[in-house]
Amino acid sequence: MSAKSGYFRKYLHCDLTAGTCERLPLSEEIIAKYIGGRGFGAKLVWDNLKAHNFKIDPLGPENLLVIAPGPLTGVYLPASSKTSYVSISPATGLYGDSSMGGSFGVELRQAGLDCVSIIGAAPELSILFIDDDEEAKIIPMPQLKGKSCLETEGLIKKHLASNDVHVATIGVAGENLVRFACVNCDWSRNAGRTGIGAVMGSKNLKAIVVRGEADLPVADMEGLIQETDTAVRYMREHKYFHVWQQQGLMSVIEYANTQGILPTFNFKATTFPGHDSINGETMLDRYKIGDSACFMCPMSCGNICLVKNGKYTGTVTEGPEYESCAMLGSNLGIDKFDAVLEANRLCDEYGIDTISAGGVIGAVIEGYESGVISLDDLDGQEISWNDDGAILDLLRKMAYREGIGDTLANGAKAIIARWPGMDKLLLQVKGLEQSAYDSRVGASMGLAYATSDIGAHHTRAWTIAKEIEEGANWTPKQKVDLVIYHQTLRPLFDMLGVCRLPWIELGLNERHYEKFFSYVTGKETTLEELLALSNTIYNLTRRINTHLGATRNDDSLPYKVREAPILTGPNAGKKLDAKEFDDMLSLYYKVRGWDENGVPPEEVEAYF
Ligand code: SF4
Repeated sequence: MSAKSGYFRKYLHCDLTAGTCERLPLSEEIIAKYIGGRGFGAKLVWDNLKAHNFKIDPLGPENLLVIAPGPLTGVYLPASSKTSYVSISPATGLYGDSSMGGSFGVELRQAGLDCVSIIGAAPELSILFIDDDEEAKIIPMPQLKGKSCLETEGLIKKHLASNDVHVATIGVAGENLVRFACVNCDWSRNAGRTGIGAVMGSKNLKAIVVRGEADLPVADMEGLIQETDTAVRYMREHKYFHVWQQQGLMSVIEYANTQGILPTFNFKATTFPGHDSINGETMLDRYKIGDSACFMCPMSCGNICLVKNGKYTGTVTEGPEYESCAMLGSNLGIDKFDAVLEANRLCDEYGIDTISAGGVIGAVIEGYESGVISLDDLDGQEISWNDDGAILDLLRKMAYREGIGDTLANGAKAIIARWPGMDKLLLQVKGLEQSAYDSRVGASMGLAYATSDIGAHHTRAWTIAKEIEEGANWTPKQKVDLVIYHQTLRPLFDMLGVCRLPWIELGLNERHYEKFFSYVTGKETTLEELLALSNTIYNLTRRINTHLGATRNDDSLPYKVREAPILTGPNAGKKLDAKEFDDMLSLYYKVRGWDENGVPPEEVEAYF
């Protein structure tokens, strides 16, 4: 095997309780079976679960956190920026992961590592500093307590007297164990979902800091350059390339509104009267002052926005993208883009997931409107749609766990436990608040949310557009096949360590990735072989969940999707039929080779 075959074959294991860090070898078997990124994370989390007899408190020191870029991260190919954060989720109590862009994972690889695993808890607030190939250090920095993500990054750079480091940090939400806290790097690139920020907070780990100088191991650089040049040329010539560069995911607001899938007033409706006040055109006309991009990405989907006048004058933020704008905008009835920008900025500062925050606040507003939540519960402060002052204050109370914010910070399961009526209002699966695409319009999207290993998150299988455009006469089997294909291909991007958006938005052929992988590793591998490995990881994360107590009942649709028809727009009156969904779920299990309760066969487990 060439020394330049895609991997360093090393990972860093840190025990924060013992105060130790050591570089350990990664075996050829693990590399061959799990590829990298999410694959390495799932494997190491599985091994740790077994070692603890499947009894893990997500916020206990025994929970393992894995930070894993992939073999393609940082390499000369489009959008090679992604790093997976993998752990047992405080939001769901089940398997959790989240993907972060930016440059953090690139630097981690340049420090000569394929991944990092962290266990235990430091005695006081600390950072982990990985300085190239020197011994990694756990440095107490209690002075960072209560600092925002951006402030933390600046203070760490000052402390280390270096601007040459990359910082993945939590804000106050992570410190306060908000179960939907995220991890932030490069100002506004986040590992947003499943509460990984709270896992770091529970470990007294404020930040992971890395500086690296190693060349990345690429087996066939000449072949890779040719393939990359072909792919980038295709992307640049795509008819939507410039729209993408101008608006990024903000272009989806108009699409979602026109198609009737835009979350509005806590998913009561799916078209928003104020959509043109919060869409990509408005952003371009009045707020956008610059672009930003993750490492090696010609698409540069990040929008840097500035509020130039009014109540929020001076607010500057990178974002929002579609999910944040929909969940903090239309879903809360907010038709003021400056207020959405301020909410987005605060989420980045607190280190809080915009999707979960928007989902929870929307449910609280509807809960108060319908009498499920009282004025006393709200600490005497009224809240209503489009009331940006009260909404931003509630966001702050969640991050700091003040008043009602203390319960809300514990996430969907705790909210429903305190106010059972919220089960009908808060859209969630397995305890994870639902992303910003209404699934009442497409059964495949409902199935995708319901069967997602991490809960109701769109990136596992975003099938809704294809079903809207082509699926009017699809059979249940066609929908099941589409969901499984997405659940297999999309996690592969996380395993390789690349962004999936060139494939989704510009139609970059997935065959490029088999070539990228082969050139980087020097191992001829077909897309089908890569997909088979990805499918194996999906079975592994399913196994993790079933060992942690998940059953068929956890693959269920939110109440509103089953029982509350959409109120407005082209899809008014639509909801998913519970019986048809249940039949489709059985078919899904069958096609996957799982039993009627969704448990993969024994031999799947033996593979690990
Ligand atoms: Fe980052 Fe956007 Fe490029 Fe993906 S498309 S790598 S999220 S800049």
